[in-house]
Order: sequence, then structure tokens, then C-alpha cells
Amino acid sequence: MDRVINKRRIIISGREESFQVAFIKNRKRISILVDDTGEIQVRCPPGVPLKNVDSLLVREKSWLNNRLVDIRSKNRHRQTLGEGAALPFLGDRLTLRLGAWGRGTVFRCGDDLWITRINTENMDMNLCIRRPLERWYLRSALAYFPRRLDHWSKEMGVSFNHLRIRNQKTRWGSCSSRGNINLNWRLMWAMPQVVDYVIVHELCHRIHMNHSTAFWSSVKQFIPDWEVYREYLKTMDSPW
Ligand SMILES: [Zn+2]
Repeated sequence: MDRVINKRRIIISGREESFQVAFIKNRKRISILVDDTGEIQVRCPPGVPLKNVDSLLVREKSWLNNRLVDIRSKNRHRQTLGEGAALPFLGDRLTLRLGAWGRGTVFRCGDDLWITRINTENMDMNLCIRRPLERWYLRSALAYFPRRLDHWSKEMGVSFNHLRIRNQKTRWGSCSSRGNINLNWRLMWAMPQVVDYVIVHELCHRIHMNHSTAFWSSVKQFIPDWEVYREYLKTMDSPW
């Protein structure tokens, strides 16, 4: 096996933090990494005793603390994905529910979004919640965007070639000169009107491949409040 993962705990600044230790074949040195969600990961060569890893983290405590404080203040508006977390979804607010039972599925029941087979002990949040949750949003986008795109394409009398649903951090949508439209699944965090605005925006690029006055007046014809939605998207950030 190339990768063996261990979960450990450490007290930093009075808080208990968990970290992940991955033993990776062919790795020469130990490295500590804090990702942008504030998860601590240690990568090391196979065979390094865990107590050596622990003492390295103890030595690096103040660096780790600074890094965590920094990331957490940046992510202040974000929430931990746990039981009860609020999940924006096309203008609705779903509540994340975690079940230890079941077969590892994600499903919506009313305003609850369930992720099952979650073992809260020794849990890797990224692996167990974030990934299945983001896959669920992606699947929902795959069902929703084509319907809205078809609707607007007919309404506007503008054709397109191909729709791709993308996983991008900063871009909401794009349209190529060949008429291929890309939409970001993260638009599912926004209200339906915002999704419509992005779709109309991209379809308008089939008429004007620029952001000229003529382009914006085409957008306005179908989405009179486009400026509100455009501003909204500038500040929309990840809810987790
Ligand atoms: Zn544009």
C-alpha cells in the first residue's frame, strides 16, 4: 500500500486539534501542511514512529497556531460541515443531517440533506462529508442546469453547442467561440434568478463575444435586474 493514514490529536493553544498522518512510499522527509480548510496533514516516509511525528508537531506548535488562526480568521464566515450545518441550495436553506446508519448515500428529505454511514469517531471531515456533499451538488447541477439552459435557449432564440458543468473555484460560467458553455456547480448555492442570469449572460455571448454596451442591453432584455445578480456573485463565497 502506498498510503497509510493515521488520525492523531494534539493540544494547540488550549484547543484539541486533530491531524492526519500519511505514510507515503518513497517519501524522504516529513512535511507538515495546513490546507485552506484548516486541516493539518503530515506526510512522512513509511516506518517513522508516530511518537516522532507527535514531537515534531509539538515543536512546531507556535507555527501551527499562527497558521490556524490565520486560516480561521479568513474562513470566519465559513462553517464546519457537521450536524445542523446550513446549506444554501437554489434559494432554499437545507440542513445537513448525519446518520451513522445506512449505506453511505446522500439524499434530500424535505429541507434536510442526509449523509449516511457517518462515523463521527475518527472521522476525516473532507473525505466523509465534504466530498459526498459536493458530489451531490454537482449531480443536482447536472439535473438542473440543462433544463434552464434549454429554457433560455428557446426563449432567446439562441443556440449553443455543448454544456459542461465545471468544478472551479472562481469562475461562474463561460462561453467559447464554438458555443460551448461551461457552468460552475457552485451556482447551486445561489438563488434560481442568479443561475438564470449566468445562463442568459453566457447565451448572450453567442451574439456578442464581448462585454460591450450592446451585450449588456441584450442581457437586460431578459434579466432586467442583472446588475443585482452580478454584484451578488462577486461576493458569493463558499458556505463551507
Ligand atoms: Zn461574460
